Amino acid sequence: MSRNIKLALAGNPNAGKTTIFNNLTGLRQHVGNYAGVTVEKKEGFLSHRGYNFTIVDLPGIYGLSASSIDEIVARNFIVEEKPDVVIDVIDASNLERNLYLAVQLMELGAPLILALNMADMAQKQGLSIDAEKLSTLLGVPIIMTVATRRVAMQDILDSAIRLIESKSVPVRTRIHYGREVDRLIDRTTEAVLKDPALSRRYPARWISIKLLEQDAEVLKRVMESPFASTILDAVEKSSEAIRGLFGDDPETIIAERRYSFISGACEEAVRRSFEQRHDISDMIDTILLNRLLGLPIFLLLIWLTFKFVFYASEPMEAAIEGFFGLLGRVVGGILPAASPLRSLIVDGVIGGVGSVLVFIPVIFLIFFAMSFLEDSGYLARAAFLMDKFMHKIGLHGRSFIPMLLGFGCSLPAIMATRTIDDERDRLTTILVIPFMSCGARLPIYVLFIGAFFPEAQAGNILFLIYLTGIFVAVIMAWILRRYLLRGPAAPFVMELPPYRIPTLRAILVHIWERGTVYLKKAGTVILAGAVIMWFLSNFPWYPNFSDNRNGEMKRMELSYAGRIGKAIMPVFHPSGIHDWRLGVGFVGGFFAKEIVVTTLGTLYAAGAGGRLRQSGCDGWKGEHNLSLRQSLRNAVRQDGTPIYTPLIAFSVMVFFLLYLPCISTVAIIRRETNSWRWPVFTILYTIAVAWVASFLIYQGGKLLGLK
Ligand code: GDP
Ligand code: MG
Repeated sequence: MSRNIKLALAGNPNAGKTTIFNNLTGLRQHVGNYAGVTVEKKEGFLSHRGYNFTIVDLPGIYGLSASSIDEIVARNFIVEEKPDVVIDVIDASNLERNLYLAVQLMELGAPLILALNMADMAQKQGLSIDAEKLSTLLGVPIIMTVATRRVAMQDILDSAIRLIESKSVPVRTRIHYGREVDRLIDRTTEAVLKDPALSRRYPARWISIKLLEQDAEVLKRVMESPFASTILDAVEKSSEAIRGLFGDDPETIIAERRYSFISGACEEAVRRSFEQRHDISDMIDTILLNRLLGLPIFLLLIWLTFKFVFYASEPMEAAIEGFFGLLGRVVGGILPAASPLRSLIVDGVIGGVGSVLVFIPVIFLIFFAMSFLEDSGYLARAAFLMDKFMHKIGLHGRSFIPMLLGFGCSLPAIMATRTIDDERDRLTTILVIPFMSCGARLPIYVLFIGAFFPEAQAGNILFLIYLTGIFVAVIMAWILRRYLLRGPAAPFVMELPPYRIPTLRAILVHIWERGTVYLKKAGTVILAGAVIMWFLSNFPWYPNFSDNRNGEMKRMELSYAGRIGKAIMPVFHPSGIHDWRLGVGFVGGFFAKEIVVTTLGTLYAAGAGGRLRQSGCDGWKGEHNLSLRQSLRNAVRQDGTPIYTPLIAFSVMVFFLLYLPCISTVAIIRRETNSWRWPVFTILYTIAVAWVASFLIYQGGKLLGLK
């Protein structure tokens, strides 16, 4: 018994469809018209390996829009006649342009095979195409053919049979249109799904993309739906949003993103033996993606970014600092002296919130710089450059941007991992993001570096800390991927969008999106944390201690915070850390790293002569920070040896770098992984990693004779 296979040949004009069609069917052909239109319909017949093939030569088309009758005919044939296999015949010497149709056939969910025809021409032009790689990247079988010489004609039939017989449907790569556009497409798709009759015919996502592209045919279909107004409303809203963000209509943006996807896939799978690039983006890429220059340029850009961020944030910080200092003094003057209420408001609330707001310039400027690099198209190149390296640690270039965002704040960074399709990749990325030193940890380093290292070395030490974080992230990613989240690396296409000057609006939207996540944290968790830390370090309230240095010290040591700090300190002795106040800082850092310096300030100010000396807020350049540095340098243990040395300070900084993501990060990990397992795991494993690292640094440093 033989079975029937209906096979359609699709492709751009002049790709070689008819040549293939004739090769396969010989004289067994039949020419007619498609029902209702005067477009020639060629059908041919043949038998192969017990299958009866009906082969249809579709009209040549460039895409699946409704812009020409041929495209509508081809599209309707694929959707309505449901051929068992669609062979997209591609002119391999003109690969990127021809893949535009392939990408749309992929989205349409057609049972697709790509025949890269004119392989001879491609070779003559110096193109070497890694078909296997391209096939994995797209999730579509690929055959290389030369129709004029009848090369691989039977392979077309064989691969069609294979596709039909294989029970396992290959995982089709999903085309990403970028975070915002994807979300807007999703929103439109939700509306489309309201009408099951529509989505039975075409994939719902495809319909919504077509609607955003203003496809007249699809629009007509949707008009007949009882849910037409809901759907069109959603389309209108999404279109407006895209226009607002990118200053261009959705059609253009969507086409552009498809080409980005194709560029990315070709950059990985196609080698050119001599350059034959044309447009401006391509020309820029010959430099920025150059094998030798690419990485140094990337590092230079990141270095400049950080320079810019820290340089530009200084004056803003000084202003915020000044404001909260003043506010603290004014409010402090109104409230009764030495009362718990005054202490709560001035030290706890104003001090706590102020110390957070001081970091807003740094964090927002990092987001600004990242958004600029992202929207201009450069970050995609950076991710592309890092892709090879990321593969070595079992991740993918796509994890790279979220990790970079981690330098600003872990919260938006973790949310940015949503663009990673593979669950294991995504989870691994989430778990290592806390090691990328976030903006809130910076003041801790500035405090300790300022206190224990000469100014000339400060920059290098800071850099070393950041590098340590990256290094640990890389090692942990490798370990996690290899042992805990083992699995094959999913193939991925890294989109290469054309370079464009980012619109101010898109940048502002990005900053706002990421910034509000941070601000919410400042308004809730950090405020609560600051008040809790204030409570722990002021209670039990002993009004009777004398208000001198010793009295204050005693009061602090007897407070809940002091008791906690003392209780956990022995754990840190092997790492060279003998300071119970720091133990309190560790606890405070769990609420938010922003609180650590304030907490240390409170505890050391007490030792240095009284609570009343602290004003509301203190950033790292403030006068109190200077006196805090002095206090840290002067601090001694009971036997008179100094508590801190440069080596111990370094070990402390590394501990702060690696241990415990803040409570908001834990909450977001819980939300994004939808379980308690991973947040709890994160807490435990980061503490373990931090402890081991600071232990190794201290003991190793001692062995090397460092102080
Ligand atoms: P269609 O428009 O897709 O049906 O393309 P045709 O089959 O009519 O082919 C267009 C032109 O390309 C013809 O002149 C073919 O001889 C030529 N052609 C087709 N396949 C190949 C191939 O693999 N290599 C080369 N060099 N030329 C080819
Ligand atoms: Mg033809």
